[in-house]
Amino acid sequence: MNRITPKSRPKQVEKNAPCQVGCANCGDIRGWIGTVAQRNKTGISTAEAFARAWSVITAVNPFPATLGRICPHPCENHCNRSDLDEPLAINAMERFLGDFAIRENVPLPRLESVNSDEWLGVIGAGPSGLSFAYQMARRGYKVTIYDAREKAGGMLRYGVPDYRLPQEVLDAEIQKILDLGVWLELDTRVGRDISLEALRSRHSMLYLAIGAQASRGLDIPGAEGDSVWTGVDYLEQVNRGNKVETGEHAIVTGGGNTAIDAARCARRAGSDVTILYRRSRDEMPAFAHEIENALEEGVNLEWLATPVSLERGPDGSLEAVRVQRMKLGATDSSGRRRPVPEPGSEFRLPATSVIFAVSQYPELDGMEALTGNGGDLGLPGKDSDDSGVIAGGDILRMGIAGEAIVQGRRAAEKVHRQFSGDPEAASKDPESADVSSERIRFRSKPGTEAVHANRLAGEKRTRLGMAEVEQSISEEQFLAEVDRCFSCGSCFGCEQCFMYCTAGCFVREDAPVPGHYFTLNLEHCHECGKCIEVCPCGFLEVS
Ligand SMILES: Cc1cc2nc3c(=O)[nH]c(=O)nc-3n(C[C@H](O)[C@H](O)[C@H](O)COP(=O)(O)OP(=O)(O)OC[C@H]3O[C@@H](n4cnc5c(N)ncnc54)[C@H](O)[C@@H]3O)c2cc1C
Repeated sequence: MNRITPKSRPKQVEKNAPCQVGCANCGDIRGWIGTVAQRNKTGISTAEAFARAWSVITAVNPFPATLGRICPHPCENHCNRSDLDEPLAINAMERFLGDFAIRENVPLPRLESVNSDEWLGVIGAGPSGLSFAYQMARRGYKVTIYDAREKAGGMLRYGVPDYRLPQEVLDAEIQKILDLGVWLELDTRVGRDISLEALRSRHSMLYLAIGAQASRGLDIPGAEGDSVWTGVDYLEQVNRGNKVETGEHAIVTGGGNTAIDAARCARRAGSDVTILYRRSRDEMPAFAHEIENALEEGVNLEWLATPVSLERGPDGSLEAVRVQRMKLGATDSSGRRRPVPEPGSEFRLPATSVIFAVSQYPELDGMEALTGNGGDLGLPGKDSDDSGVIAGGDILRMGIAGEAIVQGRRAAEKVHRQFSGDPEAASKDPESADVSSERIRFRSKPGTEAVHANRLAGEKRTRLGMAEVEQSISEEQFLAEVDRCFSCGSCFGCEQCFMYCTAGCFVREDAPVPGHYFTLNLEHCHECGKCIEVCPCGFLEVS
């Protein structure tokens, strides 16, 4: 507790900011925002500040332009600024910096330590595999990635549609990783085109990041036949640029992001779209803002409803879906209330196509040696494996791209520690926030409206097909937004302590950088505690 008494001497203590605890993937968020916000105080140009800020993010995440578009940004939920007006638009700012680095051709930074003796193999060129490859390559290791498909990117390429993530953006960020010397062998399915054993003997270590790419539909009458896809298969066709006819009435089943993206794509193809979800809206695993987007685009949502059969005409063509109304029963093992049928509540929906977005799982053909007796992945991701294989990303548990990237980084740091013997070779992801909003003096950064990126109107979106829905913020907006940051727990050079201290205890740094503007000389300290009281960001403590 920072209780100020008449005998209070200050000490400077940098603390974890809440935004960073909410996200292990944006790096030192307060640090990169501060680099730009404090550029005049530290004497660097705006362009230099952007480049430095970008390199802080890319120390942990080589995909700022990508995640700046698709991450559900848990960091913003923790921002202390929410208690004054609105959280900082961290995600939009991350995107801005990513776009800046693409536009300005800024290369990804290399680290100085070099170890070129070890050759690492990565199976899967999704975000997790690419993150691992990046972290190893920038430390000087040789890396080859093998991927079954003809392009890298994983679900970001073949799952997420262009209206949320244009492929050029993904291409540009992948290219920066390849520019570090990472070798990519495409059209190579491990377990079929090359054996796992062959790769094990070729490489010092393997990182397994094959995701959860396989999918299955529902085993209900009428499901076999034309005009029925899984969400993953449908989205892959759309993302390849193939025309998929969903007809007048598309029915999508499921409540996750795949269901929402499939529905939004079918809407763009001109169909009336209804999503059937067997639980209620509150239980939908899809991101809330994506559900909103779908509704804005005219997608219908039927909660507490599940298909029980598909009706087909004499020629086999799809005509309708029979739907069972559900109600929520007792809580199941997932902690959610189990949907149970509502007797006598079946109804019929006309349908020209059905997309089942209900189940995804890893396809381990040819890699059975990695699965334990019970069929679960005994080895991957666990700390004590000596099999030469580590796994991460969706193969372990379906999640979001940010988590897959974090796991790739952590695995790389672990492997580097193993090869280099350097116990410090790991970035520190803060676990707890030390500065709540009570420690922040809101007056230091008065109320201003947060930046909101422009978004296409719902009706315009479906007309414009795959045009990106959300736009990037401008440089002007970015510079205004960084000024809203409270710099929770780190000095931003406001000089309040310096001005209030009549004893001259605060001595200016010759070359100030964010977090370091004054050194303390407490020889003549009056112990009044005023400096601690006026410090707006919770950096000064009672010693
Ligand atoms: C439709 C959809 C929308 C999503 N939207 C979002 C979103 O908005 N925000 C978000 O953060 N996350 C989103 N996600 C989740 C995110 O895409 C995944 O969490 C992430 O891509 C997982 O990364 P990964 O590298 O583990 O696996 P993947 O991205 O699945 O990549 C696995 C790679 O391995 C390759 N592969 C598979 N088997 C083999 C083999 N045997 N040999 C060689 N290569 C192989 C595949 O070709 C693929 O390139 C979405 C997912 C989907 C499906």
